[in-house]
Order: sequence, then C-alpha cells, then structure tokens
Amino acid sequence: MRANAVDSASSALQSTCSTHKQAKITAMFIDRARIQVTAGDGGNGKVSFKRAKGMPKGGPNGGDGGKGGDVILAVDEGLNTLIDFRGIYGWKAENGDGGGNKQCTGADASDRIIRVPAGTIVFNEDTGEQIIDLGPGDSFVIAKGGKGGFGNEHFKNSVNQTPRTASPGEPGEIFALNLELKVIAEVGLVGLPNAGKSTFLKSVTRADPKIANYPFTTLSPQLGIAILDAARRVVIADIPGLIEGAADGAGLGHDFLRHIERTEIIVHVLDVVPDNTLSAAENYRSIRQELLDYSSELAEKPEMIALNKLDLMTPEDQQEAIDTLRTELQLDANQEIFPISGATGLGCSEMLEAAWKLLHGDEVQSGW
Ligand code: GDP
Ligand code: MG
Repeated sequence: MRANAVDSASSALQSTCSTHKQAKITAMFIDRARIQVTAGDGGNGKVSFKRAKGMPKGGPNGGDGGKGGDVILAVDEGLNTLIDFRGIYGWKAENGDGGGNKQCTGADASDRIIRVPAGTIVFNEDTGEQIIDLGPGDSFVIAKGGKGGFGNEHFKNSVNQTPRTASPGEPGEIFALNLELKVIAEVGLVGLPNAGKSTFLKSVTRADPKIANYPFTTLSPQLGIAILDAARRVVIADIPGLIEGAADGAGLGHDFLRHIERTEIIVHVLDVVPDNTLSAAENYRSIRQELLDYSSELAEKPEMIALNKLDLMTPEDQQEAIDTLRTELQLDANQEIFPISGATGLGCSEMLEAAWKLLHGDEVQSGW
C-alpha cells in the first residue's frame, strides 16, 4: 500500500518536475553575497615652506600624501561558505595620511583584506562582468587605493621658486560586487523519502527545507550549515528522496546523486518505523544498492548510519531497534549506529561531533 503510493508519487513528479530541476539545483548550491569595496583615498599633498632664523622666505617643503589602502580578496582555505558576508555590505580600506611639513611624506594606509573561500567567483555588479575566479592560495587586489598627492616641493621649478600648489590624493576605487560560491557540502544525507532528512537538516542548521509527510517533498538539494561552536561548522546537503532504480534514470534521485559525489561523508538516514513494509535494514540495503549502481566512488565514501525517529519509541525499544539493525546489517564493532530524532534533537549533536571527527580528525580548530 505504502510502496504503491511511493511509486505513483514518483512517476507523477517525474513529469511535472523535470523542467524545473536543473535551475533549482543550481540555485540551491550557490551561495551569494553582495558587497561594496572601497579602497582608501590617497592623502593630500602639503603646502608648506621652510621657516628658519635668517631664512624668512625659505623654499617649499610640503611633503607628498601617502597611498590609500587597497582592498584585497584573499582565499582562506578554512572557509567554505559566504555566510559571514550576510549583513555586511561595505568593506573599506583607510585613506592615506596627508603630507607634512619638512618634506614629510604621509604614511601609506594599510590594506583591507577580505577573506573568502576558494571557488569564490567575483562579478562587477554594475556591468555583470566576471572579474576573477579565486582558487586556493589566490589573492587579488579588487580595489586599488588612490596615490598620494604631491606636496608643493614637487612643483618648484626655475620659474616658480615658491609654489603654493599641492595636489590632492587620488580617490580610491570603489566597486559593487556580487560574490558567488558553489558550495560543496561536506556531508550528504541519503535515505528513502520520509526517512526524516529534511527534518534533521532543519533541526541542526538554519536551513528551511520543506517538510511534509509525503514522499518527494524535497525536490532539489538543500544546504544547511550546522554550527558546532564558534570555530567549527559542517555543511550538510539534504539530497532528495532516492528511489530504487534511480541510478538507471527511473527516478527523481538520479540527477541529484551528482551533487553528493563531491561530498566527503554520506549520512544514511533510516526511519526506525519505515513507511513501507520493509525493515530499516532492508531499506538501508536498497539505498546502498542505489549508491553502488550509480557510482562505486560514491558508495565507497565514509558513511554514518543514523537511525531516526527514535522519539517514537521507549528507551528499551530504541535499544532493541538498534541491536536488531546492527545484527541484520552485520556491522563490525567499530561501525556505529547513531540513534537520533530530528524532531526532538535527540542524539543530533553527538552525530554532528562524530561527523566533524570523521571530516577533520582530532583537530580542534578548523581555522575557517
Ligand atoms: P524526508 O523525505 O527524508 O526529507 O523526510 P521529512 O523530514 O520530510 O519527514 C517525513 C515525515 O516524518 C514528516 O511527517 C516528519 O514530521 C516526520 N519526521 C521526521 N523526522 C522525525 C522524527 O525524528 N520523529 C518523528 N516522530 N517524526 C519525524
Ligand atoms: Mg525531504
């Protein structure tokens, strides 16, 4: 009965959704930010004259202005999203100092460094033109600081020995930019429709996926960022429902599988009381088969098994369900099952900690 409902829902959606799929997928996986960068103005040149005893009309000695700071985009490989740009539009470097008396040149301003993740593509918002695609290790002066102006000493010549002219500093460049990043999820959630992937994602991140008690509610991958603490984040993608046969192009899941190929870990979400008549272990195997059929590379990725919806059971039944699954899947002692409930949050932080460890080993700081 349930299985039939799944089949008919899938075929209906195949026809209605295929045209939207591509656009939606792309949009979901691109993180965007709009910023304005303003380099510092150069300092003004100075008009001044030597003043000394016995030399009332000394020559010009006004110094040049210092250079304005550049705005520099620098790749930080610890970053993986543009989330930190939310709410910060303006990025400005300081102006150069003005020139001083006695040929003192104004100090150059320091540069303003903006840290961005590798893979950030930068567009000029006004022209739409792509300026640069920043790879690992890259840095790029996106807005040049203005040159300092000349002090009056610079304008002295044989005709004019006491110039009262100095030039102003040049203005710094200013640009409105669009930043785009194709976000690569570190963790991909797989599981049958209704296993609770969207609910889990919503509970551990600020993502707002659609949740409904209906298969295939999630039609395109959703990304969320789970914040473990100030220094550690995990980017998670909720991969839309896979169905058997998807790897042969039969189901909705096929296109989406491409997007988890680049994730580092797969979290297999299993419903402890599945919609269909099959056991959690049988459902596990059918999704594993799906992954294998699609790509052995994908199937070989480190995997975590999360047994979900445990809030529906008493603690004793929870333990029994875990033990049964463990036996049926013939897991080794070192293969863990993570008991969770996306609905109540039970076990979710423990699972995220384990995911972090799998991704980063024992390192404490990500440096992102
Ligand atoms: P998805 O298809 O895997 O994304 O599944 P959803 O997150 O949309 O959830 C399917 C249904 O299961 C919804 O009715 C959810 O409210 C319900 N659900 C999801 N997680 C839990 C859970 O941890 N406990 C309970 N009791 N229900 C859940
Ligand atoms: Mg969903």
